[in-house]
Amino acid sequence: MHLNPYGEDAVNLAADLANRRPASAEELADRCRSAGLVLESPVTSQDVDRVCAVLDEWEKVVDAVDEHERADLVNRMLVAAAAYPRLTDHAGHGWHLHYRDDRQPLGSVLFSLISVGTALHLAGRGMHRLRRCALAECATIFADTSRTGRQRYCSPRCANCDAVRRHRARATA
Ligand SMILES: [Zn+2]
Ligand SMILES: [Zn+2]
Repeated sequence: MHLNPYGEDAVNLAADLANRRPASAEELADRCRSAGLVLESPVTSQDVDRVCAVLDEWEKVVDAVDEHERADLVNRMLVAAAAYPRLTDHAGHGWHLHYRDDRQPLGSVLFSLISVGTALHLAGRGMHRLRRCALAECATIFADTSRTGRQRYCSPRCANCDAVRRHRARATA
């Protein structure tokens, strides 16, 4: 996975892992690989523990009440995660930036990737573009990468469900 200027892949991976926490090292490895991450070392249960702790912090970013709180929380993650950025071509498909030291376990790699990716996403696309679904009983987290930046639901299904509900509420009122 290469961090694109808007951090989209990284923030989407964070949302995916937060919405459905990985239950094992194998599952974590598979899901990171299918998100395009090149795994450099064997994945262990310590990586799962680490990433779950990172996701706990990250969910506070998602649930922050305003932009300043959100920025503070991201900055705290960046301080703890970041090493100096460097150019690398380790995977053999092009030079790109890594925001971490070489040969880190996956848990640490994900910590840097999620922190920097979220910062790039919020700075590039808008501080409000990370949230939970507006449907009351759906807590699914998503990064809003829509053109308008007004996405309120995680899926068309949740949007429809809420529309039907509002329609019925108006009909009975
Ligand atoms: Zn890389
Ligand atoms: Zn939803």
